[in-house]
Amino acid sequence: MPFVIAEPCIGVKDKSCVEVCPVNCIYEGEDQYYIHPDECIDCQACEAACPVQAIFPDNGVPEKWKNYIDKNREHFDNK
Ligand code: SF4
Repeated sequence: MPFVIAEPCIGVKDKSCVEVCPVNCIYEGEDQYYIHPDECIDCQACEAACPVQAIFPDNGVPEKWKNYIDKNREHFDNK
């Protein structure tokens, strides 16, 4: 159950999550930050640190942002 960064991050990219992630699995993308789904250890630290509440466990992403589950994963597909 990796964590996922959704729409509120776009245009904000506050980066607080990056600073608290103990395994450095949050990476900068062009429009937002992304969590590597295979590296995340589900510690929840980033969720609490995010000032715009953009981060959710993948089974708790609001319906309107469910596509961000794939968007986070796909960001790493070619890497
Ligand atoms: Fe990093 Fe923990 Fe957030 Fe996963 S839940 S991205 S390990 S801070």
